[in-house]
Amino acid sequence: MNQVQILASVQTFLQRQHGHFIHGQHIEVDDTRTRIELINPATEQPVSSIAIGTKPDVEAAVNSAQDAFLNAWANTSPYERGQKLNKLADLVEQHAEELAQLETLTTGKLINLSRHLEVAQTVVFLRYFAGWATKIHGQTMQPSIPSANGEKYTAYTVRQPVGVVAGIVPWNFSLMIGCWKIGSALTTGCTIVLKPSEFTTLSLLRLAELAIEAGIPAGVINIVTGTGETGQYLIDSKKIKKVSFTGSVPTGIAIGKQAMHNDLTRVSLELGGKNAAAILADTQIDEILPTLLQASFVHQGQVCAAPERFFVHRSKYEEFIQKAAVALQQFKIGSPLDESSMFGPLSNKPHFEKVKHYLDLAHQNNQIICGGKVIAGTGYFVEPTLLTVRGIDDPLFIEETFGPVVDVIAFESDEELISMVNHSRFGLTASIWTNDLAKALRLIPQIEAGSVWVNMHTFLDPAVPFGGVKASGLGREFSDAFIEDYTELKSVMIRY
Ligand code: NDP
Repeated sequence: MNQVQILASVQTFLQRQHGHFIHGQHIEVDDTRTRIELINPATEQPVSSIAIGTKPDVEAAVNSAQDAFLNAWANTSPYERGQKLNKLADLVEQHAEELAQLETLTTGKLINLSRHLEVAQTVVFLRYFAGWATKIHGQTMQPSIPSANGEKYTAYTVRQPVGVVAGIVPWNFSLMIGCWKIGSALTTGCTIVLKPSEFTTLSLLRLAELAIEAGIPAGVINIVTGTGETGQYLIDSKKIKKVSFTGSVPTGIAIGKQAMHNDLTRVSLELGGKNAAAILADTQIDEILPTLLQASFVHQGQVCAAPERFFVHRSKYEEFIQKAAVALQQFKIGSPLDESSMFGPLSNKPHFEKVKHYLDLAHQNNQIICGGKVIAGTGYFVEPTLLTVRGIDDPLFIEETFGPVVDVIAFESDEELISMVNHSRFGLTASIWTNDLAKALRLIPQIEAGSVWVNMHTFLDPAVPFGGVKASGLGREFSDAFIEDYTELKSVMIRY
């Protein structure tokens, strides 16, 4: 057991009476208003509380972002924007342990995952976006308009920032996903108002303070905390020119409709998945198992890109379930602040209840291969679980659990594999596990997913676009794909 000591700076931060972060300052919130208690999912004890943003709070944040968009940020050169994002990345690195502990205390994420994935990747992504600031450009064209009297024409395009962005962030990787949105907005010259999830707000509130220290002008990043209703006020604002949402499909669809009604506000949606991992006949199970199980069960399966459906070739099915069950039973379940734990709690009570519902269903139908139990005692702990499937319309095969609950299904032929993989309303990610590269290359075009990995899964890299097809989303993040979403393309034609 190697329990991490909570830093004094984290303890002080937890004790603060948190408000919103608007125009570079903490905004105190009237104490008489209801607040949301933040619960440590490992102990079920309150760790801090946050304010619920009202319509006037949201308006103040959007006005500040609009002012910064038209003035302070508009007067900052692309080079300076990149420099400031890099400075923010430096400060995140310097405060890495503090941010990691805040994440772990509110999400139950293993401390080493908070450190080496959430915070470390936040730095990588911020630096990647910083690099784009000086590289966004339009094109020149030669029009073919006939010339009657010797006049000539030229044309060019210019990419202009859309304006104030609303970023709505889920609870599983608040800091990192929040920084995908901050990096994309700031590098293109936009400003942003973020609404983190009510369950995990603290790391983004702390980041907003670091942004001021990094020299990012007041108003460029604003945080309004609260519930879904706070998010709705934000999307309804006439000054919001783009909504960048990451979360569930039902909320995403509601937000998409709301944004369309608000004079066609641009919207990008990064939604859920029921992702497939296809384990082909030539695969050596011992070789792939550690990587595959890590990809599925990291952060207790609360990762949008993680596989929840394993398709195993019939010839390897028995070997696979026997070895996978043994490996999962060796996961050390424990406190997320204990560096030796391999598996922590689910992140919040409503989600714990949702996963319990799926486990009950699996028990009722005798589908448990291994795991399936809620761990008695304090905290939202459940066992990593493998299930059999009762046909392709089984709710456990169809619905996203977003937890450590994975179906295992046997297949005989490539045709059967593709038809089962695509039997889903989702299309976020998929993976193929094989040494037969020719076969993988034939399967890839047939898989309905925004990302397909070969011999890996759940790896996101800023240089590679990410987003879903079908109900898993609209738009792409990262690479140069995000630029289209955060800028307007203006065409200019000149006669001379
Ligand atoms: P939700 O859709 O419940 O919430 C996402 C965010 O939207 C939260 O900040 C939430 O606030 C807010 N919200 C809820 N209702 C509204 C509304 N009507 N208007 C505006 N904002 C609203 O998702 P979860 O937080 O539960 O996240 C889990 C889901 O996110 C899973 O389906 C997962 O697959 C998906 N996800 C997708 C990713 C991707 O990149 N494709 C990455 C990570 C997660 P509050 O929390 O306060 O209710």
